[in-house]
Amino acid sequence: MGESTVRIMCPNLTCRKVLAVPAVARGKTVRCRSCGTNIRVPETKKAPKPTEQPQTNEPD
Ligand SMILES: [Zn+2]
Repeated sequence: MGESTVRIMCPNLTCRKVLAVPAVARGKTVRCRSCGTNIRVPETKKAPKPTEQPQTNEPD
C-alpha cells in the first residue's frame, strides 16, 4: 500500500514519458529526464481527504 511514488506523464507530446516521482514532490515541479520539460506534479486527487475542520475559537 505504499504510495510513495506518483506517476505522471510528460506533457510533451513528442515524449510522453511516464515518470515516477516521489510523493513528496507533489505540488512541486520536476524535470523530465527524457526531454527536460518541467512538469508540475499534481496534488493527490484520489483518496478523499478527511475534511479537516479547523476549530475556530470564538472570542468571548
Ligand atoms: Zn518528457
